[in-house]
Amino acid sequence: RKRIVSGVQPTGAIHLGNYLGAIKTWIELQNSYDTLFFIVDLHAITLPYDTQQLSKATRNTAAIYLACGVDTSKASVFVQSHVRAHVELMWLLSSATPIGWLNRMIQFKEKSRKAGDENVGVALLTYPVLMASDILLYQSDLVPVGEDQKQHLELTRELAERVNYLYGGRKWKKLGGRGGAIFKVPEPLIPPAGARVMSLTDGLSKMSKSAPSDQSRINLLDPKDVIANKIKRCKTDSFPGMEFDNPERPECNNLLLIYQLISGKTKEEVAQECQDMNWGTFKTLLTDALVDHLHPIQVRHEEIISDPAYLDGVLGEGATKAAAIADATLSNVYQAMGFLYR
Ligand code: AMP
Repeated sequence: RKRIVSGVQPTGAIHLGNYLGAIKTWIELQNSYDTLFFIVDLHAITLPYDTQQLSKATRNTAAIYLACGVDTSKASVFVQSHVRAHVELMWLLSSATPIGWLNRMIQFKEKSRKAGDENVGVALLTYPVLMASDILLYQSDLVPVGEDQKQHLELTRELAERVNYLYGGRKWKKLGGRGGAIFKVPEPLIPPAGARVMSLTDGLSKMSKSAPSDQSRINLLDPKDVIANKIKRCKTDSFPGMEFDNPERPECNNLLLIYQLISGKTKEEVAQECQDMNWGTFKTLLTDALVDHLHPIQVRHEEIISDPAYLDGVLGEGATKAAAIADATLSNVYQAMGFLYR
């Protein structure tokens, strides 16, 4: 079976972009692939953060995975920092990562500009090496992520190829390895629709956890009245009717897309259903669809989060399964890189 890995950072509230760009795809794939889903807590410390909140947010994110439908009889769910191999492989990989590759990362440039020099730790720069480690440890075939992670995936692929070239092949065979590639080179899996859900207050910037205004996003755990209020106040325009793909109407396109994905209808069905609606009518329709879709997730989330023993059990089992795969890869890498075998 082909293997899939992916993860979300336990920072801020999980929103509709995370759900439609990543988590929803995971659920659809777990029946046909071997899947591992982690909560990337080590990535969450790359910008200043609250130590009182980290473990709480980590639990909460795990509970959201399960509430959204990640099935632990099929997928392993675990916390990144519980599997020590992630950090260890990162060090080995970082020796093979040219600094120039990291300096070029758009997310690094954006985040470091926003954070200001004082707040930019080295880890913000080396973040993609840790992400590569998350993926390569499991010899993953596919990585379902939103559009914004495409560049990090490209770096992961180049790094895998570079390590295979530097340390794999004949050299590795001589050292006693089974020969061939050390790492499988993974492919990104970016959904055809939903890979870039936009802000409610500006159809040209993406929905994001770090945007200052909470009005700009729908969080998966927002109660009904909050959802209604956010949709009511979101940005509109004065064109008649509702339509996809009009470059002058990015907000309209974004909300139709959200409605399409949440309702499970096709684009054509939505285009037809909504073409003659005014904003008011459409907003009511969208609000109802969102509330209907998110309500069961919220009920399950509440159940899961109020049973810490159950959640700990899931995360413990997930970490054990993941560590077995990760440790095997890690010891191969040590061997291929010429370390003294212990
Ligand atoms: P993060 O919140 O940065 O941990 O992102 C977790 C996952 O959600 C990644 O796969 C992102 O690509 C995806 N994601 C984040 N924001 C959006 C968005 N606005 N639209 C689609 N996917 C997103």
